Formats: sequence, structure tokens, C-alpha cells
Amino acid sequence: MGETLVVDTGPLMEGFTAPDDDRCLVPPKVMSELEDHDVSNYEILERGLVTTFPTDYATKLVRDYAEETGDLDVLSDTDIEVVALAGEEEAVLVSDDYAVQNVAKGMDIEVRGHAQEGISEEREWIWYCPGCGEHEGDRKGECPVCGTELKRRPV
Ligand SMILES: [Zn+2]
Repeated sequence: MGETLVVDTGPLMEGFTAPDDDRCLVPPKVMSELEDHDVSNYEILERGLVTTFPTDYATKLVRDYAEETGDLDVLSDTDIEVVALAGEEEAVLVSDDYAVQNVAKGMDIEVRGHAQEGISEEREWIWYCPGCGEHEGDRKGECPVCGTELKRRPV
């Protein structure tokens, strides 16, 4: 049995993938940020990400704590959900966001950075057509073959 991880949007955008035996949870706001960045549903499933809602109680604990430390102003709603979910699930939080790391550490949540772990894990991405499957390229846009909006996946 591996660890339970809660992963912030940044590391996921940089291609973070959890080891096979780890549970990888993301709050709904991270999931919608991924969708905003054209990460396909297929890829989200392939990477084994599970959407999990933090409770209102856990969210309130984080807000109250961050208000005391003065971090609340710099935390987005997404940041708060990430920390709340990690605390609630007793998970390891993967984030490179300084404010998120700061609040999480203060709340005794184990935090791990992604960027520091080594450039060798950096991924390359290509744009592909989910419509006809004929086109792959290095630019965002529409498929020159069928006109479908291109999606992104790691090479
Ligand atoms: Zn196409």
C-alpha cells in the first residue's frame, strides 16, 4: 500500500504522476483548473487522479488558521481546498506554492515540493486531435484535418 497524496495544480501541469500504488486525490477546484488548461479527461483518468471534496469543516479550519498567520489574503480558494483535503485525508501534500506549503506545514501536514525533485522528471507535451486522431503537433489550436479543438497530453 502506497501513500495518499493530494496534488496541487502546478505539479500536475508540470506532468506530475503518482507512483502506481499511491492514491492521488485532487479537490474539485484543481480538477477544473486542469480542464481550463486543456488537460483532457482521458489524461486525468490515465493519471489515476480521484476528485475528492474536502468537508466544509476542514475548509473552515484552513481559513481560520490562515487568517491567524496572515496567509489568507494570498491563498486562492483552490489553495484552501488543497490544504483542507490533505489535512482531512492525512495525505502528503505535493505543491510548489510557497503560501500553500507555509500554511500546510503550520498545520502539521507533510509537504513535498515537485520542482525541487529534479528536472529529469520534466515532461514534454504534444497537442493531439481527439476527433479524428490524425493530427499531432506542438501548437494549440484546431485540427487542420477535421477542425476539432486540439487537446494536450504528455509525450
Ligand atoms: Zn482531427
